[in-house]
Amino acid sequence: MRFVFIPLPPNLPKKWNKISTARISAVGALVNQQERSKYLKKNGSWGRLKEWLSNASGHKCWYCEAKSNRAPFDIDHFRPKLGITVDGVELAGHTGYYWLAYEWPNFRLSCQRCNRPEKDELTILHGKANEFPIQNEATRCTAPAISFAAETPRLLDPCIEADCALLAHGIDGEVKPAAPVGTWEYERARYTIDQLGFNEWNTPESRRGRWQTLATLLTLVGNTVNQAVIDELNKHISYDYEYSSFFRSAIGTHRDKAWVEALL
Ligand SMILES: [Zn+2]
Repeated sequence: MRFVFIPLPPNLPKKWNKISTARISAVGALVNQQERSKYLKKNGSWGRLKEWLSNASGHKCWYCEAKSNRAPFDIDHFRPKLGITVDGVELAGHTGYYWLAYEWPNFRLSCQRCNRPEKDELTILHGKANEFPIQNEATRCTAPAISFAAETPRLLDPCIEADCALLAHGIDGEVKPAAPVGTWEYERARYTIDQLGFNEWNTPESRRGRWQTLATLLTLVGNTVNQAVIDELNKHISYDYEYSSFFRSAIGTHRDKAWVEALL
């Protein structure tokens, strides 16, 4: 997960403000969950922001940094728009943050693995879907007029730099919590890794395999400065490179070489 920064005011696509204002007002006027559900399913206007959201992350999933070349990205609503689950159990008395359904700060570009529910070979369910646990249910925002600022989400947010720092990467390709066991920060990272399946679907193996090629290059050149190798490493740690957080971390294990240290 690499911090996604949107400079303010956002350079949104033309007409978006007009569309979202109309949609927010329309959905707010509906009186029950059934009507809202019907409206939101029919009016997925957030799709108009897909390219804009994709540009912001260098065309990577905001959660896992995958490029998703073979499947279209989804737009995830960070705060779910139509019902909430906590550890797979539907949260009673809350029909979702429907009033944020057309608010761009609630959108996260997501690959289908991170966003959609899917069981792995051990039949453990992954994917964010409607999951949105918070630290203390008493602070849960339940209506448009109430601020959600007091909520502390358990899921890490790619739009918060400090959240991204809670994930660490091993050269084995696995994503791990950076904070010590027993802390809330550890719990958040563990939950995010498991829920979104960061270490599932052969992803660690793929990361590890790609790192081994780089590691071989690094070993071959040793302390000799080689521009072609520098260019290759720079490519791997650039913002728009798939899993660049992992590569930065892995390359960091060669910090004893002054020329590598200078890159990081
Ligand atoms: Zn993803």
